[in-house]
Amino acid sequence: MTNTEKIAYLYSAVAPTEKQRVGFVHFIEKKYGKGYTLEWKQSDKYAGGFGLLVEADLYDWSAEERFRQLKKSIQGVKGNDIITLLKEEVSSWQPSVVPQETGTVLSVGDGIAILSGPERATFGEILVFSSGVKGMVLSLETETVGCILFDSDDSVSQGDIAYRTKKTAGIPTGEGFIGRVINALGEPIDGLGEIIADDYYPIERPAPDIIDRQPVNKPMETGLLVIDSMFPIGRGQRELIIGDRQTGKTAIAIDTIVNQKGKNVICIYVAIGQKMSSVIRICDTLKKYGAMDYSIVVSATAGEAAPLQYVAPYAGCALAEYFMDKGKDVLIIYDDLSKHAVAYRSLSLLLDRSPGREAYPGDVFYLHSRLLERSAHLSEEKGGGSITALPVVETQAGDVSAYIPTNIISITDGQIYLETNLFFAGQRPAVNVGLSVSRVGGDAQTTAMKKTSGTLRLDLAQYREMEAFTQFAGDLDEATLKRLAYGQGLMQLLRQDKFHPLAMNTQVLVLLIALNKVIDAQPNEFRERVFATVRYLEREYPQKMLDIERSGILSDDDKEFLIAQAKEYVERSYGK
Ligand code: ATP
Ligand code: MG
Repeated sequence: MTNTEKIAYLYSAVAPTEKQRVGFVHFIEKKYGKGYTLEWKQSDKYAGGFGLLVEADLYDWSAEERFRQLKKSIQGVKGNDIITLLKEEVSSWQPSVVPQETGTVLSVGDGIAILSGPERATFGEILVFSSGVKGMVLSLETETVGCILFDSDDSVSQGDIAYRTKKTAGIPTGEGFIGRVINALGEPIDGLGEIIADDYYPIERPAPDIIDRQPVNKPMETGLLVIDSMFPIGRGQRELIIGDRQTGKTAIAIDTIVNQKGKNVICIYVAIGQKMSSVIRICDTLKKYGAMDYSIVVSATAGEAAPLQYVAPYAGCALAEYFMDKGKDVLIIYDDLSKHAVAYRSLSLLLDRSPGREAYPGDVFYLHSRLLERSAHLSEEKGGGSITALPVVETQAGDVSAYIPTNIISITDGQIYLETNLFFAGQRPAVNVGLSVSRVGGDAQTTAMKKTSGTLRLDLAQYREMEAFTQFAGDLDEATLKRLAYGQGLMQLLRQDKFHPLAMNTQVLVLLIALNKVIDAQPNEFRERVFATVRYLEREYPQKMLDIERSGILSDDDKEFLIAQAKEYVERSYGK
């Protein structure tokens, strides 16, 4: 920036004395050379001291003591290069006597400020505006810097000065967050008072290295028979929940949280771009089932500015990392990433980035890959903690080949595909068994589950094929009719009401009885009889149940024994 007139501005509440003027002129000459005119401007902001603006450097000799306090509070915690996103009171933040690089706001609106300077601002750096509002640099052009604002844009106006902080964004973390509802900046919004933070974590952090990870080998049970039996999810895995609107996507996620009760897993639900009423309903549900005791809800509703919706999943992930680093298992749900991509698209368009496919910016793939890659199962040396991610994606009319769905499918370890047709036919959860897959979860399944669920997928595939085929055939032989009835019975069995998770050992019994020809009944009776038999076995052999739950193993002897007992019970109760 060249300044032909070379004016330096001096701000203070009362006019400086001649002696002070000479002192400042002297200071400028020493530092910047000769040729500056010193112009005084009245400003109450520098009460009790002076502000001096030379070129892009602002010197502040006023609230030095307050600054030192803030500096101490920032440096008091570990991770010196992180600054919390929370808005600080303007009085508590003033730059010190070291020169600050500053920029000037050219325009502001839609949660975005375009600035001229600061020249050396870096991507992702936090800038502080003169009103105390913070923003994050998201675009660096030759002349301007684009910055997203973490507060209402009313408090920033054209001509405002923004200071560099040379720090990246972070959010407060700690045990105190468990059981709370917070916004994307880590501020409580549940009216339960302040949260005491133990630490600050950067919202963007590189994913753990390969060497620090271990394979997925522990199950993260959803409590839903259809998922745990055929598409098991392992701790550290990323499993996508995908489907049209109103197909029960959120229900599966909440069910999984409810099922973690007593399993020592911390659950984080990140709501992005949802209606406030939906978020409230979800919080109420979690409370009702006692799941809030181990959960955190991070909410950036549709009504909030795009920058907050954009930051929310990263903030949630930072919280998850705090617990993972402590050796805990964390389940995080991003509901949903389609809305996240839309928020990012609007930011990008407002920042004048060139639109690509479906008007998304070119880096939208990286947006989600860098988020989902942070899910991991850490090695024992690193404490053995894990983050399991269940991202949710909404499709339009079942189109999984749209831009965002294909991107996310390619960076997850599988998907649970939900279908409107099934949902309306009463098949809930509406999981399409043919199109869903879990690529690594099988390694995490307990041997008891593996042993008993073996033929389920195949049986259902056969049923689907036969079902299509029978539409053309009139008379069917007895064997085919039987197979069809069996398939229908299995489909009925996979129906499960929400918030009624099944324990692993119960699921093992259900599969054992359903898949071993213990019951021969019409589809509408099949389900009822299977569960009656399960309840009988649970009642009669509690020790065996406990053994399965504890060891995850079902021995061949036990398997034979339980099948025999089940057959006997069925014959006694139903005559066949
Ligand atoms: P949206 O696209 O609006 O986010 P969604 O796909 O997340 O919708 P949900 O909100 O989870 O869908 O569910 C839609 C409706 O279906 C809800 O009213 C829910 O109660 C009901 N529902 C979901 N799963 C089941 C189930 N297993 N049994 C009975 N009802 C269910
Ligand atoms: Mg939903």
